[in-house]
Amino acid sequence: MLSLYVDGDRWRAHLRAVHAAHPRLVPVAKGNGYGFGVGRLARRATWLGVDTLAVGTYGEVEEAAARFDGDILVLTPWRPFVEEQYPEAVRSPRVIHTVGRLSDLEALIARGDRPRVVLERMTSMLRHGFAARELREAVALWAEHGGCRLEGVSLHLPLAQGSHLSEVERLMTDVVAAGVPAKRVWVSHLSKSELASVEAAYPDFEVRPRIGTGLWLGDRGALRARATVLDAHPVVRGDEYGYRGRTAPRHGTILIVSGGTAHGIGLAAPTGPNDLRSRAASIAKGGLDAAGFVRSPYMIDGKQRLFAEPPHMQASMLFLPAGSRVPDVGEEVDVRVRFTATTFDRTLVS
Ligand SMILES: *Cc1c(COP(=O)(O)O)cnc(C)c1O
Repeated sequence: MLSLYVDGDRWRAHLRAVHAAHPRLVPVAKGNGYGFGVGRLARRATWLGVDTLAVGTYGEVEEAAARFDGDILVLTPWRPFVEEQYPEAVRSPRVIHTVGRLSDLEALIARGDRPRVVLERMTSMLRHGFAARELREAVALWAEHGGCRLEGVSLHLPLAQGSHLSEVERLMTDVVAAGVPAKRVWVSHLSKSELASVEAAYPDFEVRPRIGTGLWLGDRGALRARATVLDAHPVVRGDEYGYRGRTAPRHGTILIVSGGTAHGIGLAAPTGPNDLRSRAASIAKGGLDAAGFVRSPYMIDGKQRLFAEPPHMQASMLFLPAGSRVPDVGEEVDVRVRFTATTFDRTLVS
């Protein structure tokens, strides 16, 4: 079993601190729910007492809406095909749609039920959104027809490489020039001081920071991923093992631990020295990476262990060289995971 242990007091204290620092916080619950699941995060958003929760897609609306009473902002822009794919979510009066194309705004206006929309301005991310001129056209279209409720403007900024402020300033100039009547801007990836600068520079705008990683995963010390040891097999050099009939490069133990590709284990490139020089040094020392073993995310007694072969669906095979302590079957070992790419079998919040 791959388990996520959460130090509940510490985690909740962190969530409260982030909310206190950002009273207009919009928590983001999407995808694998940052390792916790969308439903659990929606319940936490209720507990935090925020008025709006952001989800990634229309497919996530139902799970969030069942556990959170407020408004639900869908981050992936509305497209005509979602009307058929998610007929209930797209019509919910609690849902706020993100719109980034004029044809989509026209279609939403034509729907006739006054949907709630946020106009997304394209950023240097170049993912979704209106160019400056299109944003002006969108506001003009809205002014002419009405037909939807404008809930503000959205800016999805890249992860910080230095300051975002000059980009935000340029984009906000476009927003102001477009005359967007709803004075609210939904932003991502701004630091606390950047948010304060934007608030000071545009005092008539309400700034709504959308935060996922920094909220749910902001205090890593409160989180611990652990895998159960399932089996252990002593091997001598030359013994065959695994799907591919490999042979053990020396004496040791093949250790079977829970966690595999289905959990998202081992999909990331292994870290550590793999340039030619360090590989040559490793070969010279008879190192196990020289045998073609790659580092696994499993940690045993503080040591990062090697995969004996690539992870299987729900279990992984590790190689422990002779002389290392072999953990007991049923014991749990630490795993270093990317929470946004990991599906846990269970989550235990203390
Ligand atoms: C995922 C996402 C966020 C939250 O990003 P984090 O890095 O997890 O804080 C904010 N806005 C948009 C549009 C997103 O897709």
